[in-house]
Amino acid sequence: MFVNALLLRIRLYFCSSKFTMNLSEHLNHKVFQIIASLAAKEGTPSYVIGGFVRDLLISGSGTAPMDIDIVVIGSGIEMAQKVKACIDEELPLSVFKNFGTAMLKWGDTEVEFVGARKESYRHSSRKPLVENGTLEDDQNRRDFTINALAISLNPSDYGELLDPFGGLKHLEERIITTPLEPGLTFSDDPLRMLRGIRFATRLGFSIEAGTLNAIHQHRQRIGIVSQERISDELNKIIASAKPSTGFLLLEQTGLLEIIFPELQQMKGVEEVNAMHHKDNFLHTLEVLDNIALKTDNLWLRWAALLHDIAKPRTKKFEPGTGWTFHAHEFIGAKMIPGIFRRLKLPLNEKMKYVQKLVQLHLRPIVLSQDIVTDSAVRRLIFDAGDDLEDLMTLCEADITSKNERTVKRHLKNFQIVREKIIEIEAKDSIRNFQPPISGDDIQKIFGIPPSRAVGIIKNAIKEAILDGEIPNDYQAAYELMLKEGAAQGLSPQKGASKEETREEKTREEKTKND
Ligand code: ATP
Ligand code: MG
Repeated sequence: MFVNALLLRIRLYFCSSKFTMNLSEHLNHKVFQIIASLAAKEGTPSYVIGGFVRDLLISGSGTAPMDIDIVVIGSGIEMAQKVKACIDEELPLSVFKNFGTAMLKWGDTEVEFVGARKESYRHSSRKPLVENGTLEDDQNRRDFTINALAISLNPSDYGELLDPFGGLKHLEERIITTPLEPGLTFSDDPLRMLRGIRFATRLGFSIEAGTLNAIHQHRQRIGIVSQERISDELNKIIASAKPSTGFLLLEQTGLLEIIFPELQQMKGVEEVNAMHHKDNFLHTLEVLDNIALKTDNLWLRWAALLHDIAKPRTKKFEPGTGWTFHAHEFIGAKMIPGIFRRLKLPLNEKMKYVQKLVQLHLRPIVLSQDIVTDSAVRRLIFDAGDDLEDLMTLCEADITSKNERTVKRHLKNFQIVREKIIEIEAKDSIRNFQPPISGDDIQKIFGIPPSRAVGIIKNAIKEAILDGEIPNDYQAAYELMLKEGAAQGLSPQKGASKEETREEKTREEKTKND
């Protein structure tokens, strides 16, 4: 992962005990110069620390950082105010007095300042007792060795890498481990367990054995972390290039059972009469990784994670048939609001989108296994609406067979479904369609109040259009309405002639287009 000159320098660093690494040429952002001169003038040594240093060493590039953390031996807030005064008094600065931190926004760069501190923790809370400390104290309280790397911004050693815990070596070895004893680090602030798994997932690093053990040991401590923080980390794991890494680690450490029992229950294989079903947890992770290759849409990724969530509770062994999961897509869709509520995920249209995809996830498959009729495609277009493309992406990601021929066959069938969708859309404009005669029209024409009869007629029109029995136009719908109305003993009112409602329609349409 390391590149070019920086890589060479890191290798040299390990070969020579006298070699120190100076990264000043990578501190291109103007803010570093400003902080350096203020640090010298005020006598408050300052360092850049954490994610910026880690990512610089990983990518070897010093380009446009978005997120810079500065630790000051002194007041972080005062330093932030002075930096702001130096650049532009108008820059937005947020001060968090309680935390002793300040965040300065300069263009697309966010610089967070904190005074170096020493922390001690109580058992019941993630909030530490804080006192002023040295750089070393501050590095001690950092979560991982790769996040404790600092670069000096001070005149005597500007650009020098300060690495008391071997963070650089761990970057080289692609290892996540803690600066202090891992049990203490995780027990102090159990959120770090999830952060560790998230960094391992995002960076493709492994978690050092003792550190992984400590997560397992302290897993119950996750109970003192707020649900919002937990879900924030889950989202970051899901948003990674290979999210399965994170979920496998969550499972392995016993955290999954605590924070996401529905997923845990998907793990395992049962066998009856020498027939077994696939491990739905592993299948789900494969689908999630597949979809991550195709989209950054977080909610489509959530749909992949949850598409088979009801399999454990619908599982049955039926003699003669084998393992079945009847209606798991419907029951799964019903489980989504409860899961979203508990995880404090949004309960708005994002949840509805996930719910819809879970509910529909078998439809294209069923369709592709059958003869692809126009009517079935029309219904799929109608039910999926604007989310049809995403549904097809989910279904293609859902193919996890190890048999190449099976995979090819499924993909070919989906291609046929896709072509049919294009053909029917061009012909029938079904997506987001509204039947050409509304409930209001029906009431007016027959002179009846809102009632069951209106619903029956309206539904008959919709069904007939989706089944291709009548075209999607006003005239055909009007005629069917009369027929359905007659079957219910209704006849059109005098005065509410076809032409009138038609005229209204044209008028309405005209205003809509205006
Ligand atoms: P990214 O922003 O890319 O997720 P980061 O390392 O910058 O990664 P932040 O959450 O921005 O992570 O935190 C900045 C730094 O603060 C970290 O690198 C780490 O040194 C420290 N830090 C953040 N959260 C914790 C924590 N819970 N415990 C200990 N140190 C932490
Ligand atoms: Mg950061």
